[in-house]
Amino acid sequence: MSAEEKSTSRQWRGVIREYADRLDVTDATPIVTLGEGGTPLIPAPALSARTGAKVYVKYEGMNPTASFKDRGMTMAISKAAEHGAKAVICASTGNTSASAAAYAAYAGLTSVVLVPDGNIAMGKLSQAVAHNAEILQVKGNFDDCLDIARDLADNYPVHLVNSVNPDRIAGQKTAAFEVVEALGDAPDFHIVPVGNAGNYTAYFRGYSEDLAVGNSTKLPRMFGFQAAGSAPIVRGEVVRNPDTIASAIRIGNPASWALALDAHKTSDGYFGAISDTLILEAHRLLSTEVGIFVEPASAISVAGLLERSAAGAIPAGATVVLTVTGHGLKDPQWALRRADGSTVAPTVVPVDTAEIAAVLGLQKVPA
Ligand SMILES: *Cc1c(COP(=O)(O)O)cnc(C)c1O
Repeated sequence: MSAEEKSTSRQWRGVIREYADRLDVTDATPIVTLGEGGTPLIPAPALSARTGAKVYVKYEGMNPTASFKDRGMTMAISKAAEHGAKAVICASTGNTSASAAAYAAYAGLTSVVLVPDGNIAMGKLSQAVAHNAEILQVKGNFDDCLDIARDLADNYPVHLVNSVNPDRIAGQKTAAFEVVEALGDAPDFHIVPVGNAGNYTAYFRGYSEDLAVGNSTKLPRMFGFQAAGSAPIVRGEVVRNPDTIASAIRIGNPASWALALDAHKTSDGYFGAISDTLILEAHRLLSTEVGIFVEPASAISVAGLLERSAAGAIPAGATVVLTVTGHGLKDPQWALRRADGSTVAPTVVPVDTAEIAAVLGLQKVPA
């Protein structure tokens, strides 16, 4: 008996192998995978209690490079390799570059990443460095970086792996397939953070395909949230200098804007804006009451749920899935900052049980 036959469970094989029949791949496609996808859908009783809905969290920080970008990157890099690319390029606020660099390393390709001026989260930068990407910091914002990446890919021998590449969206739609499998149907609402709106578009596509083949009976209403200082879709105009602590969604001119508007219309969706203060409150709530640690951009899903629930837009008993897009260790500084801006540090104690018990306010149990 082979090890595989003996095992009662099997290893998840990454989204391309798991969903080969639902992606544009053939026997000629070299599959570049780090085992992405198959992430947990975690019931969140604390959020259900606050809202009266049945709330689940799709924890995308559990992907190989700790963000959902890996679902799209396995497709984008596999197709790049299939087409004979030697180098890939992306613009990135951090997670796309971390993912592109890792998958390119696996495939033996060169990766080039263009990052905007200033505050790229340290965790993400360290990943791109570790995986040996050529990192160029452009004196401009994300939108400038994407323009240049597209220009280079159009005119030089480098393959673009931003979410304007349709292979990215295709890979990312698999997250919706996993939700439908886990719940037995689509949820009533699906809430995601929105930057370039590629992921909002990808979930909508995945749910639409599941509905079309009869795996589900409905489309969820797609609710997307942008940071208040970076909310072009909500405002209906490009934001020239987007500003938010949630760096992964600091995008002023979303690449998938038009596709997202279609998804919004068809799903009877919603786009809302959330202040940085409420993003950080939700970040803390998710860590302290649900046990899930995310980067700030991800916490906007929680803040958006609470905002829509307070507005009476989420009926009692509705099934709600929140995607939390990236792991907290990407950008850990926010957990260490109190609301007043001071930094949390551990209380220093001597090597003394009684003194430590006193600091903890513990009374000795009678013998
Ligand atoms: C990329 C990213 C987003 C935004 O996704 P879009 O597809 O650009 O809308 C949100 N959160 C995290 C952690 C990300 O890495």
